[in-house]
Amino acid sequence: MDCVFCNIAAGKIPSTIVYQDKEIMAFRDIHPVAATHILIIPRRHIGSLVDIKTGDLPLISRMVDTANKLAKQEGVSEKGYRLVINSGKEGGQLVQHLHMHLIGGRKLADALG
Ligand code: AMP
Ligand code: ZN
Repeated sequence: MDCVFCNIAAGKIPSTIVYQDKEIMAFRDIHPVAATHILIIPRRHIGSLVDIKTGDLPLISRMVDTANKLAKQEGVSEKGYRLVINSGKEGGQLVQHLHMHLIGGRKLADALG
């Protein structure tokens, strides 16, 4: 499958990796919207939120835990940050491989628009 994030997970497309283990990878967004903008992905292809199965939930919680640890590392934990998962067309998902945005380092606008 020609999936950009599968290719990043496989090391076929270069990225600035900030964390990786057997299941998860985190790398800097190529078009950062704030000083800290990291994407956390499962290495295994999951298309979007709607494709998450009950058995994937431990993995999803590990992604949240990883994001929180990275927020600490980036020094945004105290001031605040945002975890965002866009899903589907109207949800603004451009890359069809589940990913969590970790965004921080500035005062963010209301995200509920
Ligand atoms: P979304 O709209 O939630 O699907 O977000 C996709 C994100 O992936 C955007 O913020 C892009 O800047 C980012 N992105 C796309 N291609 C790459 C890449 N090769 N390396 C890093 N980030 C990427
Ligand atoms: Zn993929």
